[in-house]
Amino acid sequence: AIAKQAEVRGWQLYLVGGAVRDLLLSGTNNSKQAQSSLPDIDLVVDGFHQTADQAAGVELARSLQQTYPDARLQVHGRFQTAALTWHNHPEFDSLWVDIATARTEFYPYPAANPEVEASSIRQDLYRRDFTINALAIRLTPPRVGEMLDFFGGLLDLKAKQIRVLHANSFIEDPTRIFRAVRFAVRLGFAIDPQTEGYIHHAIASGVYHRIQLEMEKTPALQTRLKQELKYILEAPYWKSAVRLLSDLGAMCCIHSNLHLDDRLWWQLRLVDRWLRRFDTNHTLEQWLVLLEVLLAQLATPDRVKVAENLQLPADSIERLRSLDQIQANLMANLPACFRPSQIYQHLHPYNLPTLTLLAVLMPRHTRRQIWHYLTHLTTVKPPIDGNDLKAMGYKPGKQYKPMLEALLNATLDGEIHDRSQAEAFLQA
Ligand code: ATP
Repeated sequence: AIAKQAEVRGWQLYLVGGAVRDLLLSGTNNSKQAQSSLPDIDLVVDGFHQTADQAAGVELARSLQQTYPDARLQVHGRFQTAALTWHNHPEFDSLWVDIATARTEFYPYPAANPEVEASSIRQDLYRRDFTINALAIRLTPPRVGEMLDFFGGLLDLKAKQIRVLHANSFIEDPTRIFRAVRFAVRLGFAIDPQTEGYIHHAIASGVYHRIQLEMEKTPALQTRLKQELKYILEAPYWKSAVRLLSDLGAMCCIHSNLHLDDRLWWQLRLVDRWLRRFDTNHTLEQWLVLLEVLLAQLATPDRVKVAENLQLPADSIERLRSLDQIQANLMANLPACFRPSQIYQHLHPYNLPTLTLLAVLMPRHTRRQIWHYLTHLTTVKPPIDGNDLKAMGYKPGKQYKPMLEALLNATLDGEIHDRSQAEAFLQA
């Protein structure tokens, strides 16, 4: 439908980006890549020198929305990119269609000039990250289905190579370092040696300081970097990706003092195991806790600054800010705690992400206490609850809290086991 809308306006429409790459990969035997769900669809429309006050992509999206009123339309950016999204659709669950406008629209070139046409989509593809992501399929006549491969993407797909389009690519956009790693690990591809050289060059030229400086000015970079870290850390292949980032020396893009040593590697894997053990319903953003482990390696002011620059949620930033103090506090108190109720009282104020971080940062003895707290102490319930107190004739009010606390402590410490012991305890 959308190709038809473009065609009647005399425009050219192309399928670009990940959908083309994945389409080609699903035709090969690359089972790692085979996708069960629909990929996001990226389209580029070349509206030539269309003069209306809205970009061609937006006009197409609006007219498509009239045909599919259940789609949600968003328009964003200076160059007016439009996105149509469907959620919980009966046929395809969810679908995201992004319609960008090729840049030549903004130049007064003569319409339908084939050279302009070619240079327009070529220019659009040239701004992309890797050759395998810079392929396009034409969706409008006269050559529907034609593959446009200006930069050798097809060969790289075959050779399983991640290759940038030009030497400055990583300097221009350092988040592409994370993207290179993500695609390499996810697709089982190698980073082409020259591209790897460009990564090293970008890192050696102080990419970290540039990222920090730019992040303070450009919210878009913050969002993209956070998004890339999220993609990597929430993927099932996060361990290989983090290893590769470290091998490339790219951990310093997060902070110049950050290095993946044996201890950090162990901490990351332990946090991952704890979260899988204790957050079985996936109510937490587990990737964020992994990122916090990385940031916890840094001195407090640095970790807070990076977290703020990345616009992490307020509770993450607060955790990173207060971690040292909590650690000191627990170190001063926990070693002298022998009664389970004492351990419970000291750990109870903290949530699972904080406890998990503390567990990997603190000595083994404390880690065992936290483990015991999470596996046993949090499951203990006194044999009598508030309703029972009421039924027993205690007048509801403020006094319930200390009574229930005392009951819990006595249960934790094994002093009461059943209801009659609890009643006797209360009477005493
Ligand atoms: P995925 O399957 O992970 O969504 P994708 O290739 O669709 O992969 P997106 O992040 O959705 O990845 O980006 C869509 C397209 O936009 C990419 O294929 C690429 O052509 C382009 N792109 C995205 N980010 C960048 C970037 N930082 N620099 C250049 N081009 C980019």
